[in-house]
Amino acid sequence: GPALLFVKTSQGKEEGRRFYACSACRDRKDCNFFQWEDEKVSEARLAAREEYNRSHQPCFTHRQNVDRYKNFVLLPLSKRRFCQECQQLLLPAEWKKHSDHQFLCDITTAQLKSPSQLLYPLENKKTNAQYLFADRSCQFLLNLLTDLGFRRVLSVGTPRLHEMIQSKASQEEEEFNVRSLLLDIDFRYSQFYTEDEFCHYNMFNHHFFGGEAARETCRKFLCEENGERVIMVTDPPFGGLVEALASSFKKLMAMWRGTEKEGHDNREMPMFWIFPYFFESRILDFFPSFSMMDYQVDYDNHALYKHGKTGRRQSPVRIFTNLTPSVIVLPEEEGYRFCTVCQRYVSSGNQHCEICNSCTSKDGRRWKHCVLCKKCVKPSWFHCDNCKCCTLEKHSCGKSDSGCFVCGKAGHKRSACPSLTHS
Ligand code: SAH
Ligand code: ZN
Ligand code: ZN
Ligand code: ZN
Ligand code: ZN
Repeated sequence: GPALLFVKTSQGKEEGRRFYACSACRDRKDCNFFQWEDEKVSEARLAAREEYNRSHQPCFTHRQNVDRYKNFVLLPLSKRRFCQECQQLLLPAEWKKHSDHQFLCDITTAQLKSPSQLLYPLENKKTNAQYLFADRSCQFLLNLLTDLGFRRVLSVGTPRLHEMIQSKASQEEEEFNVRSLLLDIDFRYSQFYTEDEFCHYNMFNHHFFGGEAARETCRKFLCEENGERVIMVTDPPFGGLVEALASSFKKLMAMWRGTEKEGHDNREMPMFWIFPYFFESRILDFFPSFSMMDYQVDYDNHALYKHGKTGRRQSPVRIFTNLTPSVIVLPEEEGYRFCTVCQRYVSSGNQHCEICNSCTSKDGRRWKHCVLCKKCVKPSWFHCDNCKCCTLEKHSCGKSDSGCFVCGKAGHKRSACPSLTHS
């Protein structure tokens, strides 16, 4: 889909030079598309680009994959193979072509219903960053949204949540009446879901690869027919630009708003945006109605974000939502409790600060109030009179090197400054 417009700034210069680059791949190794904004592109180069794109299409269309699936499930177990190298369900006629590839045999219906277990996670940090929810977290999210009365889930980059909903719906049929539509850039999923269950989608530029028909599928799904309320749940790659994501999510929200003739009385489409806590201020910049919940989202294949037995490695990933915080009930058996002053559930270590009049911890540890900074700070920080702020004990004193060279905010370097990028 469309590239994003970025700006390169060099130290000392006011105006930066603007260029287009791939929206989905943040690493030039994954996609080397680059074009200065004012650059004239020759016919030859345009043709070469088109040729490159043509030769990099998936070997089957979504439609073809759906037909292949229908044939696949008709096969006896002994003929159901999945090529691990090509990440593809194989029909018997294709076995030969994949004969020197590793493959799995006897693919069961249960396996077909959990594609996120069958496919290997695309972990390359800069593009897919596929980190799958631990079962506990996935179950928690699903219970939470069904308890809140939602019957439709727009799953944007949450294949495992989608899969849990799909497989429950097919097993328990009558009692479980939640539906999900998966929007994801990982086209491998088109082998397992129909066009009504999966859209190949890029959340950094709101591009539907399936064109108008796919867009229409999404729009229809967002219509709250028979009072079936919709919620969007998204878990984007953490390296992604918040600005680009927010712009796409606003377009999805607008799509939702457009489905209602009455206009939803200025309500926003309910949303869970799952993202690390240190992006709180960036998310609030774009969605002031959102608040961050204390719940720590855990992952299966992310060593750092696993809920360790010792409880020492704590996940920094949280739920941001535009729902009233008090309705987001967090599990008491995991130590969360309700703060009546803040009117929300907080982690066990999060103490209500009388001075801030808020439960101020962001990372789950107990924070301490600094009277000089007039705010609560991390337990490991102390107030440095030289720097006139709280910081780590070990810091290059007087240099305030923690802040970004461009915007002055802490937490990132100049090269990663969000204020340098414009979509
Ligand atoms: N925790 C989730 C997975 C989150 S990982 C779960 O268990 O369901 C991030 C997801 O976003 C992956 O599924 C990845 O394929 C998808 N993704 C990455 N880049 C994307 C993009 N540009 N557009 C849409 N989806 C993307
Ligand atoms: Zn193969
Ligand atoms: Zn409180
Ligand atoms: Zn405080
Ligand atoms: Zn201080």
